[in-house]
Amino acid sequence: MTELSGIRTSGPAHLGNYLGAVRRWAAGQRPDDVFLVADLHGMTTTHSPHRLRQYARQAFALLIASGVDPERAVVFVQSDLVREHAALTWVLECTCTYGEAKRMRQFREKSGGQDSVRLGLLTYPVLQAADILLYGADRVPVGEDQHEHIELARALANRFNGTYGEVFVVPEGVVPAVGAGIKDLAEPTRTMAKSSGETPGVVFVLDSPDLIRRKVERAVIEDLGELRYAPKEQPGVSNLLEILGACTGVSPREIGAGIADLQQLKAAVADTVVDVLRPVRERMTDLLADQAELDRLRAFGAARARDRATPRLEAALKVVGLS
Ligand code: ATP
Repeated sequence: MTELSGIRTSGPAHLGNYLGAVRRWAAGQRPDDVFLVADLHGMTTTHSPHRLRQYARQAFALLIASGVDPERAVVFVQSDLVREHAALTWVLECTCTYGEAKRMRQFREKSGGQDSVRLGLLTYPVLQAADILLYGADRVPVGEDQHEHIELARALANRFNGTYGEVFVVPEGVVPAVGAGIKDLAEPTRTMAKSSGETPGVVFVLDSPDLIRRKVERAVIEDLGELRYAPKEQPGVSNLLEILGACTGVSPREIGAGIADLQQLKAAVADTVVDVLRPVRERMTDLLADQAELDRLRAFGAARARDRATPRLEAALKVVGLS
């Protein structure tokens, strides 16, 4: 069984990425699992080349600092294999129809019907299919918003295999075991996201303890006289309970019991988040300061990824009549 997970470089990684994904990846990694820093996906909308490179280094350092073991799982930066990913994307674009691509809900939402959006915004689900199919992944943990992309990857794999011969494993989307959906501290009805940018509602993994405390202190919460986990009625309070629960492994419904008031809740969240992120931030900072070691680990991960990807890419190129 090969499970594939990825993190986009649409911004610096945040608390939600760590609690909801990276920490779980490190804990559950199996020797065949693949973790990719999806930096090709970081340029489907206007982007800064400098930042794209920086976010990719940071995301890779985060995975290693969080305990993803490059000797065990395959962990790499997508652009280190840009030729492989780009080549298979082209083959799959010639397997996908325009109608299928433009029907993607994410494209319709993100493009807002504008012709001036980058073509990559339309085609990135095909790149995502290539990311999955190159590595023979049969399980891909995804949230609800990515479900249609997995369906597309399945359709492309089936169509390709049916037309040219069996080359690809048909992947299955799986719902992650714990779907800790961390919300933005300033706008607790929306998900904490990298693409929100530098806003006070997003706690970044590299934030200093002081900054984390200030962000938690300013979190928007409801004062309804009772401290209860009720995401609909009290989204702000519930988000803090969710964060505390995710950090400590206790259910957010139960964790409020020992907390007297909202001030105490904020103090507990700030202390816990600072404690949980401290070792990760320190290891990450050390790695980012050691360019040679980071480059070595990247090259090692890329070589393992290439070993995995090359036979399948060559088989795909051959059966379609290329090379
Ligand atoms: P973007 O702003 O580009 O949508 P993102 O922050 O949503 O970025 P992704 O790179 O799409 O992050 O996701 C990386 C992993 O982090 C995925 O497994 C995703 O489910 C998880 N994740 C992202 N945001 C959260 C969140 N707020 N709470 C829990 N998990 C999250």
